[in-house]
Amino acid sequence: MTLGNKIGVVSGKRISGVDWNDWKWQFRNRIRSMRQLAAIQQRPVASLAPCAPVLRTYPIAITPYYMSLLDPADENDPLRRQCFPDPRELTFSLGGVPDPLAEERDMPVPGLIHRYPDRCLAIVTGTCAVYCRHCNRKRLWRADKPGRTRERLQAMVDQVARTPALREVIISGGDPLLISEPLLDWFLGALRAIPHVEVLRIGSRAPVTLPMRITPELCAMLKRHRPLWFNTQFNHRREITEESTRACEMLLEAGIPVGNQSVLLKGVNDNYDSMRELLYGLERISVRPYYLFQCDPVQGTDHFRAEIWTGMEIMERLWRNISGLCLPRYVLDCPGGRGKIPLQPFSLLPGRENGDQHCFDKTAQMD
Ligand SMILES: *Cc1c(COP(=O)(O)O)cnc(C)c1O
Ligand code: SF4
Repeated sequence: MTLGNKIGVVSGKRISGVDWNDWKWQFRNRIRSMRQLAAIQQRPVASLAPCAPVLRTYPIAITPYYMSLLDPADENDPLRRQCFPDPRELTFSLGGVPDPLAEERDMPVPGLIHRYPDRCLAIVTGTCAVYCRHCNRKRLWRADKPGRTRERLQAMVDQVARTPALREVIISGGDPLLISEPLLDWFLGALRAIPHVEVLRIGSRAPVTLPMRITPELCAMLKRHRPLWFNTQFNHRREITEESTRACEMLLEAGIPVGNQSVLLKGVNDNYDSMRELLYGLERISVRPYYLFQCDPVQGTDHFRAEIWTGMEIMERLWRNISGLCLPRYVLDCPGGRGKIPLQPFSLLPGRENGDQHCFDKTAQMD
């Protein structure tokens, strides 16, 4: 049974190619309930009982498109892991907190995080096409109140306007491509009209989870607000499909550079081969690897967190073996809101006091 058929079973409808390629159809037909999840897996709802409390705290949403890329029956599928609920989301063994990065502290107006001197980040919505189980803003998923978006965005514009140090604004969420297109257009234009704002950046996972959202109309609108950079989040080679490739290509053709911010995720990409395949794939589609994030100690993400040493070893091997164009910077966003710091392999400089502190085996072989 193809996935189109499976979704058909769930929704009781036949699906046309036109619908499938329409992002609004994809968004409306997201898998949002246990009942739908069970039907997709051809399992009785009762068998998913351990996940019911998870959904009360952290809702699910999976686009039919993203669902079509994974095997719903395989618990180890790296794409399934990213979007299927897991009872471990409710165990906080590492003492995770909802907002370890203390983002709420650095908000001069609601939704605008001003942490670094020259740039700030605007959370314009808490809604996403797919709710990634590893998300570091999963605390926002339920807080998203419809309406008043325009007023909140206006307050952000005013705040940026009275802060001359800000030369770059990152429009994020949630997924900023899910607010209305005229509103996004207005917001980008209002920011662009502020003399000290030189650069805009959009952070959106839509090219990966809802690639149909990247339409010619959207690209034409974004193009008018350049210089505009776009960062997305591919975490696994299998997310690089014909559809996601086309979405990135359309942005690139509109003169919008596309970068990638992956998260190091246990069971998804926390080994050398899987990471190399992802990075090679990104290079092939002209998407520049930007960051590889250490997974933050956010409540509900313990089971995704790989050891920093694992990440360092992967990075060191990548440095030795693959093209520099493929290399992201491996970073840790420090708990407490102290910002991002690089986690650098090849730290060969002797320590100031303790002599040679190099921690990796110098005899490690190239592949
Ligand atoms: C990551 C981040 C930025 C952007 O930092 P870059 O290093 O420029 O990508 C800006 N604001 C906040 C709050 C962030 O977490
Ligand atoms: S798309 Fe981004 S903000 Fe949305 S759930 Fe995934 S990681 Fe979180």
